[in-house]
Amino acid sequence: MTEVSVAKEDVAAPGELVVLKSVNKHFGALHVLQDIDLTIARGEVVVVIGPSGSGKSTLCRTINRLETIDSGTISIDGKPLPQEGKELARLRADVGMVFQSFNLFAHKTVLENVMLGQIKVRKADKKKAEEKARALLDRVGVASQADKYPAQLSGGQQQRVAIARALAMDPKVMLFDEPTSALDPEMINEVLEVMQQLAREGMTMIVVTHEMGFARSAANRVVFMADGRIVEEAAPDQFFSNPRSDRAKDFLSKIL
Ligand code: ADP
Ligand code: MG
Repeated sequence: MTEVSVAKEDVAAPGELVVLKSVNKHFGALHVLQDIDLTIARGEVVVVIGPSGSGKSTLCRTINRLETIDSGTISIDGKPLPQEGKELARLRADVGMVFQSFNLFAHKTVLENVMLGQIKVRKADKKKAEEKARALLDRVGVASQADKYPAQLSGGQQQRVAIARALAMDPKVMLFDEPTSALDPEMINEVLEVMQQLAREGMTMIVVTHEMGFARSAANRVVFMADGRIVEEAAPDQFFSNPRSDRAKDFLSKIL
């Protein structure tokens, strides 16, 4: 790899992909993110857990700049997230996001949903975009649904399309915000399996989830948030068997 000289604050250590430093965010009087320091290595899978209202979604939304921050810095692959403009659109495309609600374009077919961003943001030609979309739909197991509209698919299928759509942008990191919370129980596993596969293939992932089985088997690290702070982080085995903080102990006693 060639070393490029950059301004000091832009330097990320080798292997660091997402770096948050002293990030603070308020909603009015609510201090929703408090001095968040978080570094995600390339290829790392980090599961974020914590009580409702602890700031997990806001954390995800700041990483792809759906929310601004009040202070601190966020950088992706050594580049600070700009406030706005073309550069922002490009950097944001490096961060794939899958939400709890599937957020597919209702009036576009499944295939078109996966083609659109490639054409609009990545400037791919139509034929290439279609080829890639079909390959991705095949990879997430919904190739036969390509010409249907989202409403004609099950929730699990829609969520897999949402994953394919995010992957179509060749993201450097994928954020998942409770991707299975809105699904019927029998559909949860088909989505988790796609995520497991992505993790095995080396995708860098930040996953907010209550699926502790996924956390145990796929995560390199668990980050526990409460009241806008990172209270504890540890390897999954260590976190689940021996949480250090009272907040984490209390949380785990309620969900396990
Ligand atoms: P989590 O995902 O952990 O449940 P959120 O990040 O969604 O937590 O929310 C953290 C806190 O911020 C909650 O108290 C929530 O009500 C508040 N909040 C989230 N989004 C907004 C917003 N756009 N405006 C005002 N308050 C918000
Ligand atoms: Mg949330």
